[in-house]
Amino acid sequence: MSGRIRRTFEMLLCVAAVAGILTGCVNSGGKAADAPEKLVKSKSEGRNLVPDVTRDTLTLPASDPSTDESTKNPSKSSGNKITATQKPEENDDVIGGSLVDPAKYIPDPGARIKIVLDPGHGGVHKGASCDGIEEQDLNLKVALLCRNYLITHYSDVAVYMTRSTDRELDPTLKVDLEERARVAELANADALVSIHFNASEKHDQSGAIVYVSKRDNVHEESALLGEQILGRLEDLGIENHSISIRDSNDLMDKNGNPYDYYAINRHCAAREIPGIIVEHAYIDSPTDRCFIDSEEDLAAIAEADALGIAAHFELTLY
Ligand SMILES: [Zn+2]
Repeated sequence: MSGRIRRTFEMLLCVAAVAGILTGCVNSGGKAADAPEKLVKSKSEGRNLVPDVTRDTLTLPASDPSTDESTKNPSKSSGNKITATQKPEENDDVIGGSLVDPAKYIPDPGARIKIVLDPGHGGVHKGASCDGIEEQDLNLKVALLCRNYLITHYSDVAVYMTRSTDRELDPTLKVDLEERARVAELANADALVSIHFNASEKHDQSGAIVYVSKRDNVHEESALLGEQILGRLEDLGIENHSISIRDSNDLMDKNGNPYDYYAINRHCAAREIPGIIVEHAYIDSPTDRCFIDSEEDLAAIAEADALGIAAHFELTLY
C-alpha cells in the first residue's frame, strides 16, 4: 500500500486502538490565544513605528528559567518587555535559537520574508491535556520542526520564535498574549502563525481550523495563508474545517462592532500583521489522535505548516 490508501488503513487501525482509551482529558477552555480579556490597544498603529531590528538586538529577555525570578514565582510580574540591549549569545532563549545549530542560527533580519512561529501556551499557561498529552508540548515540538523545515529548505525566509522552551512570555495571560504579537512587530514579520491543538468539552470534535482576524487590513492575506496550511493538513487526512473568524463577546469598537475574540488575531491586526491561529487537530479525538501519536506524525504536521507558508509566500528552495 502506498500514499493515501496506506494512510487511511493506518488511520483505521489507529482509531480502533485509541477508541475507548481517552480518559482524563482536559479542555483548556479554548484558552488558545483566547480568553476575552480587556482590550489593550497597541501604542503603535503601523509598521512605520516598528523599531529597527538588527541581528544583535532582537531578544526576549528575562524568561530563562535559570535566571528569571518571575518564572519561579509567577505571581510576581516580570515586566518582561522586549529590549534591544541583550546580545543573542548572552541568552539561549533568544528568539530564533535553533534545533539545527543552536550556536549559529540567528534569523536574518534582511531576509525577504520574515515569519514568527508562536507555539501556543507554555510555562504557567497550560493548554489542553489528554491522557498525558500536553498541548503546549505538542505546540512547541511542531513549531520547532516547522522552523527547521523552513530554514533548511528555503533561502529567503527568516523564522523567529516567540518561545523555544516550555515557558511563558509573561505570567499574566493578557500580557503574555500581547507580547507574542510584539515579537512579530519587532521582527517586522510578514505573518505570525500561532500553533495549537484543540480539545472539546464532549470529546466529540475532530479536524483542523484556522482563526483569522476580521479586520480588513489583514483579513484577506490571513485567510489565504490559512487556506494554504489547511490544504496541506487535509492532504495528511485531517478534516478541513476551513477559515473562521470569531467575534468578541464584550469588546466593541466605537461603532459598536465587536473586535476579534482571539487576542492573537486582535493584537497582530492592530500591528498590521496577519496573525493566524492554527488549531491542527483535537488531542481528545480518536480520529485525530492518529495524526499526532508519533514523532513522524508531528514532523508531517510541521511540514504541512511549512509547505503552506512556503506556498503562500512563494519561498525559494535552496
Ligand atoms: Zn491552544
